[in-house]
Amino acid sequence: MPGFALEPQQREWCEELRALAAERLRPLAEKGEPGRLNRPLVAALGELGLLERLFSSGALDLCLMRESLAHGCTEAETALALQGLGASPVARAGTDAQRARWLPGVREGRLVAGFALSEPGAGSDAAALELRADPDPDQDHGQDQDHDHGQDPDQDGGRAGGWLLSGEKCWISNAPYADFYTVFARTTPDAGARGITAFLVPADRPGLTGSALDMLSPHPIGALAFDRVRVTPDDVIGAPDQGFRVAMDTLNLFRPSVGAFAVGMAQAALDATLAHTATRTAFGGPLKNLQSVAHQVAEMATRTEAARLLVYAAAAAYDRNEPDVPRSSAMAKLFATEAAQYVVDAAVQLHGARALQRGHLLEHLYREVRAPRIYEGATEVQRTIIAKELYAR
Ligand SMILES: Cc1cc2nc3c(=O)[nH]c(=O)nc-3n(C[C@H](O)[C@H](O)[C@H](O)COP(=O)(O)OP(=O)(O)OC[C@H]3O[C@@H](n4cnc5c(N)ncnc54)[C@H](O)[C@@H]3O)c2cc1C
Repeated sequence: MPGFALEPQQREWCEELRALAAERLRPLAEKGEPGRLNRPLVAALGELGLLERLFSSGALDLCLMRESLAHGCTEAETALALQGLGASPVARAGTDAQRARWLPGVREGRLVAGFALSEPGAGSDAAALELRADPDPDQDHGQDQDHDHGQDPDQDGGRAGGWLLSGEKCWISNAPYADFYTVFARTTPDAGARGITAFLVPADRPGLTGSALDMLSPHPIGALAFDRVRVTPDDVIGAPDQGFRVAMDTLNLFRPSVGAFAVGMAQAALDATLAHTATRTAFGGPLKNLQSVAHQVAEMATRTEAARLLVYAAAAAYDRNEPDVPRSSAMAKLFATEAAQYVVDAAVQLHGARALQRGHLLEHLYREVRAPRIYEGATEVQRTIIAKELYAR
Protein backbone atom coordinates (compact mmCIF):
# COMPACT_ATOMS: atom_id res chain seq x y z
CA MET A 1 0.00 0.00 0.00
CA PRO A 2 1.48 3.39 -0.86
CA GLY A 3 1.97 5.45 2.28
CA PHE A 4 -0.24 8.27 1.13
CA ALA A 5 -3.41 6.39 0.15
CA LEU A 6 -5.82 5.98 3.04
CA GLU A 7 -8.21 3.05 3.02
CA PRO A 8 -11.95 3.90 3.12
CA GLN A 9 -12.22 2.68 6.73
CA GLN A 10 -9.33 4.93 7.73
CA ARG A 11 -11.11 7.90 6.17
CA GLU A 12 -14.31 6.98 8.03
CA TRP A 13 -12.38 6.71 11.27
CA CYS A 14 -10.96 10.20 10.72
CA GLU A 15 -14.48 11.54 10.16
CA GLU A 16 -15.65 9.92 13.41
CA LEU A 17 -12.70 11.39 15.30
CA ARG A 18 -13.36 14.86 13.94
CA ALA A 19 -16.98 14.62 15.05
CA LEU A 20 -15.93 13.36 18.50
CA ALA A 21 -13.46 16.23 18.82
CA ALA A 22 -16.03 18.86 17.90
CA GLU A 23 -19.04 17.47 19.75
CA ARG A 24 -17.75 15.54 22.75
CA LEU A 25 -14.25 16.83 23.53
CA ARG A 26 -14.55 20.53 22.63
CA PRO A 27 -17.11 21.20 25.41
CA LEU A 28 -14.83 19.50 27.96
CA ALA A 29 -11.85 21.53 26.75
CA GLU A 30 -13.83 24.74 27.10
CA LYS A 31 -14.54 23.95 30.75
CA GLY A 32 -10.79 23.69 31.42
CA GLU A 33 -8.46 26.51 32.36
CA PRO A 34 -5.71 27.47 29.87
CA GLY A 35 -2.34 26.27 31.14
CA ARG A 36 -3.86 23.85 33.66
CA LEU A 37 -4.18 20.10 33.35
CA ASN A 38 -7.70 19.16 32.27
CA ARG A 39 -8.22 15.76 33.91
CA PRO A 40 -11.85 15.26 32.73
CA LEU A 41 -10.60 15.73 29.15
CA VAL A 42 -7.83 13.14 29.63
CA ALA A 43 -10.34 10.75 31.23
CA ALA A 44 -12.68 11.17 28.23
CA LEU A 45 -9.82 10.24 25.87
CA GLY A 46 -9.44 7.10 27.97
CA GLU A 47 -13.16 6.28 27.93
CA LEU A 48 -13.26 6.66 24.15
CA GLY A 49 -10.46 4.11 23.81
CA LEU A 50 -8.15 6.60 22.12
CA LEU A 51 -5.39 6.34 24.72
CA GLU A 52 -5.47 2.55 24.39
CA ARG A 53 -5.01 2.98 20.66
CA LEU A 54 -1.89 5.09 21.27
CA PHE A 55 -0.11 2.02 22.55
CA SER A 56 -1.67 -0.66 20.38
CA SER A 57 -1.19 0.75 16.88
CA GLY A 58 1.47 2.30 14.71
CA ALA A 59 2.69 5.71 13.61
CA LEU A 60 0.07 6.17 10.88
CA ASP A 61 -2.83 5.65 13.31
CA LEU A 62 -1.14 8.05 15.72
CA CYS A 63 -0.99 10.64 12.92
CA LEU A 64 -4.61 10.11 11.92
CA MET A 65 -5.71 10.56 15.53
CA ARG A 66 -3.63 13.70 16.03
CA GLU A 67 -4.71 15.30 12.75
CA SER A 68 -8.40 14.54 13.25
CA LEU A 69 -8.55 15.60 16.90
CA ALA A 70 -6.59 18.79 16.18
CA HIS A 71 -9.19 19.78 13.58
CA GLY A 72 -11.89 20.13 16.22
CA CYS A 73 -10.11 20.36 19.56
CA THR A 74 -6.38 21.08 19.88
CA GLU A 75 -6.55 20.65 23.66
CA ALA A 76 -7.73 17.04 23.26
CA GLU A 77 -5.11 16.41 20.60
CA THR A 78 -2.33 17.68 22.82
CA ALA A 79 -3.55 15.81 25.90
CA LEU A 80 -3.53 12.59 23.85
CA ALA A 81 -0.09 13.24 22.39
CA LEU A 82 1.43 14.04 25.77
CA GLN A 83 0.17 10.80 27.31
CA GLY A 84 1.95 9.07 24.44
CA LEU A 85 5.16 11.08 24.72
CA GLY A 86 5.44 10.61 28.49
CA ALA A 87 4.45 6.95 28.63
CA SER A 88 5.90 5.55 25.40
CA PRO A 89 9.36 5.11 26.94
CA VAL A 90 7.72 2.92 29.62
CA ALA A 91 5.66 1.01 27.05
CA ARG A 92 8.60 0.47 24.71
CA ALA A 93 11.56 0.04 27.08
CA GLY A 94 10.17 -0.28 30.61
CA THR A 95 10.16 -3.34 32.86
CA ASP A 96 7.08 -5.55 33.30
CA ALA A 97 6.64 -4.10 36.78
CA GLN A 98 6.74 -0.50 35.50
CA ARG A 99 4.29 -1.30 32.74
CA ALA A 100 1.88 -3.06 35.10
CA ARG A 101 2.01 -0.21 37.64
CA TRP A 102 1.60 2.78 35.30
CA LEU A 103 0.24 1.91 31.85
CA PRO A 104 -3.32 0.83 32.77
CA GLY A 105 -3.87 4.22 34.43
CA VAL A 106 -2.38 6.05 31.43
CA ARG A 107 -4.62 4.14 29.02
CA GLU A 108 -7.71 4.86 31.11
CA GLY A 109 -6.81 8.55 31.42
CA ARG A 110 -6.54 8.31 35.23
CA LEU A 111 -2.78 8.84 35.38
CA VAL A 112 -1.01 11.60 33.51
CA ALA A 113 2.51 11.29 32.09
CA GLY A 114 5.29 13.78 31.30
CA PHE A 115 8.45 13.56 29.20
CA ALA A 116 11.29 15.45 30.91
CA LEU A 117 14.28 15.86 28.61
CA SER A 118 14.85 19.61 28.11
CA GLU A 119 16.78 21.75 30.58
CA PRO A 120 17.53 25.46 30.76
CA GLY A 121 20.98 24.74 29.26
CA ALA A 122 20.06 21.84 26.95
CA GLY A 123 17.23 22.11 24.42
CA SER A 124 18.09 21.28 20.81
CA ASP A 125 21.38 19.87 22.09
CA ALA A 126 19.67 17.40 24.41
CA ALA A 127 22.80 15.27 24.82
CA ALA A 128 24.32 18.19 26.77
CA LEU A 129 21.83 17.69 29.61
CA GLU A 130 23.18 18.06 33.13
CA LEU A 131 20.56 16.77 35.56
CA ARG A 132 22.89 14.78 37.80
CA ALA A 133 22.33 11.18 38.87
CA ASP A 134 24.92 10.68 41.62
CA PRO A 135 25.50 7.30 43.26
CA ASP A 136 23.35 7.13 46.40
CA PRO A 137 25.56 6.34 49.40
CA ASP A 138 22.52 5.12 51.37
CA GLN A 139 21.47 2.47 48.87
CA ASP A 140 23.05 -0.92 48.89
CA HIS A 141 25.41 -0.96 45.94
CA GLY A 142 25.37 -4.00 43.80
CA GLN A 143 23.38 -6.37 46.04
CA ASP A 144 20.51 -8.11 44.29
CA GLN A 145 19.06 -4.84 43.04
CA ASP A 146 20.01 -5.05 39.43
CA HIS A 147 18.26 -8.19 38.30
CA ASP A 148 15.94 -6.43 35.90
CA HIS A 149 18.83 -5.03 33.96
CA GLY A 150 21.34 -7.83 34.29
CA GLN A 151 24.31 -5.62 35.11
CA ASP A 152 27.34 -6.82 36.94
CA PRO A 153 27.63 -4.28 39.75
CA ASP A 154 31.41 -4.57 39.78
CA GLN A 155 31.49 -3.51 36.15
CA ASP A 156 29.04 -0.72 36.68
CA GLY A 157 31.15 1.44 38.96
CA GLY A 158 28.84 0.56 41.86
CA ARG A 159 26.06 2.67 40.38
CA ALA A 160 23.57 -0.17 40.16
CA GLY A 161 22.77 0.52 43.82
CA GLY A 162 20.77 3.65 43.09
CA TRP A 163 21.12 7.35 42.46
CA LEU A 164 20.19 10.78 43.74
CA LEU A 165 18.84 13.16 41.07
CA SER A 166 19.81 16.82 41.39
CA GLY A 167 19.14 19.65 38.95
CA GLU A 168 16.41 21.13 36.80
CA LYS A 169 14.13 20.39 33.88
CA CYS A 170 12.38 23.14 31.96
CA TRP A 171 9.46 23.53 29.49
CA ILE A 172 8.06 20.14 30.41
CA SER A 173 4.52 19.68 29.10
CA ASN A 174 2.03 18.52 31.78
CA ALA A 175 4.44 19.63 34.53
CA PRO A 176 3.96 20.24 37.38
CA TYR A 177 0.63 18.38 37.32
CA ALA A 178 1.58 14.97 35.88
CA ASP A 179 1.52 11.83 38.05
CA PHE A 180 4.86 10.58 36.79
CA TYR A 181 7.69 11.66 34.51
CA THR A 182 10.15 9.94 32.24
CA VAL A 183 13.26 11.80 33.34
CA PHE A 184 16.57 11.78 31.50
CA ALA A 185 19.60 12.25 33.77
CA ARG A 186 23.36 12.09 33.52
CA THR A 187 24.76 8.95 35.10
CA THR A 188 28.20 9.28 33.50
CA PRO A 189 29.81 12.73 33.43
CA ASP A 190 31.47 13.94 30.22
CA ALA A 191 30.10 11.04 28.19
CA GLY A 192 27.63 13.04 26.08
CA ALA A 193 24.75 10.96 24.75
CA ARG A 194 26.35 7.78 26.10
CA GLY A 195 26.13 8.80 29.75
CA ILE A 196 22.38 9.42 30.05
CA THR A 197 19.87 7.17 31.84
CA ALA A 198 16.05 7.28 31.62
CA PHE A 199 14.21 7.03 34.95
CA LEU A 200 10.54 6.66 35.77
CA VAL A 201 9.99 9.19 38.55
CA PRO A 202 6.61 9.37 40.32
CA ALA A 203 5.61 12.99 40.96
CA ASP A 204 5.35 12.43 44.72
CA ARG A 205 8.98 11.38 45.19
CA PRO A 206 10.49 13.41 48.06
CA GLY A 207 12.70 16.20 46.75
CA LEU A 208 10.81 16.67 43.47
CA THR A 209 9.01 20.00 43.13
CA GLY A 210 7.57 21.85 40.15
CA SER A 211 6.23 25.18 39.04
CA ALA A 212 3.95 26.20 36.18
CA LEU A 213 5.28 28.37 33.35
CA ASP A 214 2.99 30.90 31.68
CA MET A 215 3.44 30.11 27.98
CA LEU A 216 1.75 31.16 24.74
CA SER A 217 0.71 27.53 24.13
CA PRO A 218 -2.57 26.75 25.87
CA HIS A 219 -1.51 23.41 27.41
CA PRO A 220 0.20 23.03 30.82
CA ILE A 221 3.98 23.46 30.79
CA GLY A 222 6.26 23.69 33.80
CA ALA A 223 9.70 23.43 35.31
CA LEU A 224 10.82 20.64 37.63
CA ALA A 225 13.42 20.93 40.39
CA PHE A 226 15.19 17.82 41.72
CA ASP A 227 16.77 18.06 45.16
CA ARG A 228 18.48 14.71 45.79
CA VAL A 229 15.49 12.73 44.51
CA ARG A 230 16.14 9.05 45.25
CA VAL A 231 15.83 6.58 42.36
CA THR A 232 16.64 2.87 42.39
CA PRO A 233 17.51 0.36 39.66
CA ASP A 234 13.78 -0.50 39.59
CA ASP A 235 13.13 3.02 38.30
CA VAL A 236 15.49 2.72 35.33
CA ILE A 237 13.76 2.59 31.92
CA GLY A 238 15.93 0.50 29.62
CA ALA A 239 19.49 0.25 30.93
CA PRO A 240 21.86 2.65 32.70
CA ASP A 241 23.66 4.96 30.28
CA GLN A 242 21.34 3.90 27.43
CA GLY A 243 18.69 6.55 28.06
CA PHE A 244 19.45 8.75 25.08
CA ARG A 245 18.36 5.92 22.81
CA VAL A 246 15.09 5.66 24.77
CA ALA A 247 14.53 9.38 24.21
CA MET A 248 15.36 9.23 20.49
CA ASP A 249 13.19 6.12 19.90
CA THR A 250 10.24 7.99 21.36
CA LEU A 251 10.94 11.19 19.43
CA ASN A 252 11.38 9.27 16.16
CA LEU A 253 7.91 7.80 16.58
CA PHE A 254 6.38 11.15 17.47
CA ARG A 255 8.13 13.39 14.93
CA PRO A 256 5.76 12.79 11.95
CA SER A 257 2.80 13.05 14.31
CA VAL A 258 3.78 16.62 15.27
CA GLY A 259 3.35 17.25 11.55
CA ALA A 260 -0.09 15.61 11.74
CA PHE A 261 -1.09 17.96 14.56
CA ALA A 262 -0.01 20.85 12.32
CA VAL A 263 -2.02 19.49 9.36
CA GLY A 264 -5.15 19.26 11.54
CA MET A 265 -4.75 22.89 12.56
CA ALA A 266 -4.07 24.00 8.97
CA GLN A 267 -7.18 22.19 7.75
CA ALA A 268 -9.31 23.82 10.45
CA ALA A 269 -7.96 27.25 9.44
CA LEU A 270 -8.56 26.50 5.75
CA ASP A 271 -12.14 25.30 6.35
CA ALA A 272 -12.91 28.43 8.35
CA THR A 273 -11.42 30.57 5.58
CA LEU A 274 -13.44 28.89 2.83
CA ALA A 275 -16.63 29.50 4.78
CA HIS A 276 -15.73 33.08 5.64
CA THR A 277 -14.54 34.22 2.22
CA ALA A 278 -17.65 32.72 0.57
CA THR A 279 -20.00 34.79 2.72
CA ARG A 280 -18.22 37.98 3.73
CA THR A 281 -18.97 40.75 1.26
CA ALA A 282 -16.77 43.71 0.34
CA PHE A 283 -16.69 45.89 -2.74
CA GLY A 284 -19.99 44.52 -4.01
CA GLY A 285 -19.46 40.75 -3.69
CA PRO A 286 -18.08 37.93 -1.57
CA LEU A 287 -14.36 38.04 -0.81
CA LYS A 288 -13.84 34.85 -2.84
CA ASN A 289 -14.61 36.80 -6.02
CA LEU A 290 -11.40 38.75 -5.55
CA GLN A 291 -8.77 36.80 -7.41
CA SER A 292 -6.03 37.55 -4.90
CA VAL A 293 -8.23 36.07 -2.17
CA ALA A 294 -9.10 32.96 -4.18
CA HIS A 295 -5.45 32.40 -5.11
CA GLN A 296 -4.42 32.75 -1.48
CA VAL A 297 -6.97 30.09 -0.49
CA ALA A 298 -5.70 27.82 -3.28
CA GLU A 299 -2.16 28.19 -1.97
CA MET A 300 -3.27 27.41 1.58
CA ALA A 301 -5.08 24.26 0.41
CA THR A 302 -2.12 23.10 -1.69
CA ARG A 303 0.38 23.47 1.14
CA THR A 304 -1.97 21.72 3.58
CA GLU A 305 -2.43 18.79 1.22
CA ALA A 306 1.30 18.53 0.50
CA ALA A 307 1.99 18.51 4.25
CA ARG A 308 -0.61 15.80 4.81
CA LEU A 309 0.93 13.57 2.13
CA LEU A 310 4.43 13.97 3.57
CA VAL A 311 3.13 13.11 7.04
CA TYR A 312 1.25 9.99 5.87
CA ALA A 313 4.23 8.84 3.82
CA ALA A 314 6.63 9.31 6.75
CA ALA A 315 4.33 7.52 9.17
CA ALA A 316 3.73 4.63 6.78
CA ALA A 317 7.50 4.37 6.21
CA TYR A 318 8.00 4.22 9.99
CA ASP A 319 5.41 1.44 10.30
CA ARG A 320 7.12 -0.52 7.51
CA ASN A 321 10.50 -0.01 9.21
CA GLU A 322 11.97 1.51 6.09
CA PRO A 323 15.58 2.75 6.12
CA ASP A 324 14.91 6.38 5.20
CA VAL A 325 12.69 7.11 8.22
CA PRO A 326 14.96 9.83 9.70
CA ARG A 327 14.83 11.81 6.44
CA SER A 328 11.12 11.37 5.73
CA SER A 329 10.11 12.09 9.35
CA ALA A 330 12.23 15.23 9.46
CA MET A 331 10.80 16.43 6.13
CA ALA A 332 7.24 15.79 7.32
CA LYS A 333 7.71 17.60 10.63
CA LEU A 334 9.56 20.51 9.03
CA PHE A 335 7.21 21.06 6.11
CA ALA A 336 3.93 20.51 7.98
CA THR A 337 4.71 22.81 10.91
CA GLU A 338 5.94 25.57 8.60
CA ALA A 339 2.95 25.11 6.27
CA ALA A 340 0.52 25.29 9.19
CA GLN A 341 2.09 28.55 10.37
CA TYR A 342 1.67 29.97 6.87
CA VAL A 343 -1.92 28.74 6.52
CA VAL A 344 -3.05 29.97 9.94
CA ASP A 345 -1.43 33.35 9.38
CA ALA A 346 -3.07 33.68 5.96
CA ALA A 347 -6.41 32.64 7.47
CA VAL A 348 -6.10 35.40 10.07
CA GLN A 349 -5.39 37.90 7.30
CA LEU A 350 -8.43 36.84 5.26
CA HIS A 351 -10.72 37.00 8.30
CA GLY A 352 -9.60 40.48 9.25
CA ALA A 353 -10.06 41.87 12.76
CA ARG A 354 -12.52 39.24 14.00
CA ALA A 355 -9.78 36.56 13.85
CA LEU A 356 -7.83 38.38 16.53
CA GLN A 357 -10.70 38.58 18.97
CA ARG A 358 -10.05 36.51 22.10
CA GLY A 359 -11.92 33.22 21.79
CA HIS A 360 -12.07 33.13 17.97
CA LEU A 361 -10.91 29.82 16.45
CA LEU A 362 -8.09 31.57 14.60
CA GLU A 363 -6.91 33.50 17.65
CA HIS A 364 -6.63 30.10 19.35
CA LEU A 365 -4.87 28.46 16.39
CA TYR A 366 -2.50 31.41 16.04
CA ARG A 367 -1.28 30.73 19.58
CA GLU A 368 -1.21 26.94 19.10
CA VAL A 369 0.59 26.82 15.78
CA ARG A 370 3.80 28.54 16.85
CA ALA A 371 5.39 26.11 19.29
CA PRO A 372 5.55 22.96 17.08
CA ARG A 373 8.16 24.74 14.92
CA ILE A 374 10.39 24.73 18.02
CA TYR A 375 9.73 21.58 20.02
CA GLU A 376 10.73 17.98 19.23
CA GLY A 377 13.46 19.34 16.99
CA ALA A 378 13.25 22.93 15.72
CA THR A 379 12.83 23.55 11.99
CA GLU A 380 16.57 24.22 11.63
CA VAL A 381 17.41 20.95 13.39
CA GLN A 382 15.15 19.06 10.96
CA ARG A 383 17.01 20.67 8.05
CA THR A 384 20.28 19.51 9.58
CA ILE A 385 18.94 15.93 9.82
CA ILE A 386 17.70 16.00 6.21
CA ALA A 387 21.00 17.34 4.88
CA LYS A 388 22.99 14.79 6.87
CA GLU A 389 20.88 11.96 5.47
CA LEU A 390 21.22 13.27 1.92
CA TYR A 391 25.01 13.51 2.09
CA ALA A 392 25.33 10.13 3.82
CA ARG A 393 24.12 8.37 0.68
C1 LIG B 1 5.13 24.37 23.95
C2 LIG B 1 6.36 23.61 24.29
C3 LIG B 1 6.27 22.36 24.88
C4 LIG B 1 7.42 21.64 25.22
N1 LIG B 1 7.31 20.42 25.86
C5 LIG B 1 8.43 19.74 26.20
C6 LIG B 1 8.33 18.48 26.90
O1 LIG B 1 7.23 17.99 27.18
N2 LIG B 1 9.47 17.85 27.27
C7 LIG B 1 10.71 18.37 26.98
O2 LIG B 1 11.70 17.72 27.34
N3 LIG B 1 10.84 19.56 26.31
C8 LIG B 1 9.73 20.25 25.93
N4 LIG B 1 9.85 21.46 25.28
C9 LIG B 1 11.16 22.04 25.04
C10 LIG B 1 11.61 21.85 23.61
O3 LIG B 1 11.93 20.52 23.36
C11 LIG B 1 12.81 22.80 23.36
O4 LIG B 1 12.28 24.11 23.38
C12 LIG B 1 13.47 22.52 22.03
O5 LIG B 1 14.20 21.31 22.08
C13 LIG B 1 14.42 23.65 21.62
O6 LIG B 1 15.30 23.93 22.65
P1 LIG B 1 15.48 25.44 23.16
O7 LIG B 1 14.13 26.03 23.35
O8 LIG B 1 16.40 25.41 24.32
O9 LIG B 1 16.16 26.20 21.97
P2 LIG B 1 17.70 26.18 21.58
O10 LIG B 1 18.23 24.80 21.60
O11 LIG B 1 18.40 27.20 22.40
O12 LIG B 1 17.62 26.66 20.09
C14 LIG B 1 17.15 27.98 19.77
C15 LIG B 1 17.12 28.11 18.28
O13 LIG B 1 18.43 28.00 17.76
C16 LIG B 1 18.41 27.40 16.48
N5 LIG B 1 19.17 26.15 16.50
C17 LIG B 1 19.36 25.30 17.53
N6 LIG B 1 20.10 24.24 17.13
C18 LIG B 1 20.36 24.41 15.84
C19 LIG B 1 21.06 23.64 14.86
N7 LIG B 1 21.65 22.47 15.16
N8 LIG B 1 21.18 24.15 13.60
C20 LIG B 1 20.60 25.33 13.29
N9 LIG B 1 19.90 26.09 14.16
C21 LIG B 1 19.78 25.63 15.43
C22 LIG B 1 16.93 27.12 16.18
O14 LIG B 1 16.36 28.22 15.50
C23 LIG B 1 16.32 27.03 17.55
O15 LIG B 1 14.93 27.27 17.57
C24 LIG B 1 8.69 22.19 24.93
C25 LIG B 1 8.79 23.44 24.30
C26 LIG B 1 7.65 24.16 23.99
C27 LIG B 1 7.79 25.50 23.33
